[in-house]
Amino acid sequence: MICCHEKYEVAMEISGAELRRCRDCGLVVVSQKIRGFAPEIYQDYYQEDTGGRFGAGIECVVKAFRFVRALKIFLLKSDSRSILDIGSGRGWTLYFLKKYFHYETAVGTQISLPAYRFSREKLRLEIYNRDLLAIDFSRTFDVISLWHILEHVNQPEEYVEKISQLLSDNGRLLIEVPNFNAWSRRLVEKYWLGLDLKHHLTFFTPAALSALLLKYGFKIEKIRTFSLEYSTFTSTQSLVNFISGSQDCFFCWLGGEKFGPKIYLHTLLFVLLFPLCFLVNLILYFFDWGEVITIVAQKNG
Ligand SMILES: [Zn+2]
Repeated sequence: MICCHEKYEVAMEISGAELRRCRDCGLVVVSQKIRGFAPEIYQDYYQEDTGGRFGAGIECVVKAFRFVRALKIFLLKSDSRSILDIGSGRGWTLYFLKKYFHYETAVGTQISLPAYRFSREKLRLEIYNRDLLAIDFSRTFDVISLWHILEHVNQPEEYVEKISQLLSDNGRLLIEVPNFNAWSRRLVEKYWLGLDLKHHLTFFTPAALSALLLKYGFKIEKIRTFSLEYSTFTSTQSLVNFISGSQDCFFCWLGGEKFGPKIYLHTLLFVLLFPLCFLVNLILYFFDWGEVITIVAQKNG
């Protein structure tokens, strides 16, 4: 039985929308007023000319982080040879897994056309330009990964159900999502960068995500709330938002928005707060309050 979130309490209220915590499954769901998956909002998620989200310099850093993701996947189970990366970005992680880590099958899904074209045409990868639930795979995979995807979809539970069918026995599932329990979310509430209500439809806590995976027969192997790629940036941007009373100015500038005078103040605050946020997140490494949830689960064979 898939949970319909009928019994809930309001966890947060933001400009007419409610974030409702389900009393049964623990997921935090954005209320129907603004909820609803709209594929068209992802058509400009990646830039038309490059397929990237940021300028060339930042994309180099992103590419390096994608190599780190590939290494993490390889270390999950070094004899794995096939992977499905759901919401595969521009495809760099899959590309590195094939090129350097002995993966024979590296398949992705990507609904945004610019990134889809980049991974198909430039990286020559097998990518599907459709939602996971609409694809009929006639095979299973040793590894399935979702990096910051599950919070974007309308039916995370249906995703987990389908993933359990697509994963080989003893295969590994890696999911990373923003952590609704994050210290900065509790501190700055609506200014939290991880909120992104334009795109995010469901929020997770370590307990709720674990419970969802256990329901579909997974065994939890590892759970962490620190990410070198996300944690410090998310905390810092959230605190800058809170202090300046504005929303994600620095992040939007990195994404190509016009340079305005506000950016000076934001950059200064960013530089000052970054080391502090790095330290806080490092201390929280083994606690539940870091910025992300990275969970590794095994499918019982
Ligand atoms: Zn529920």
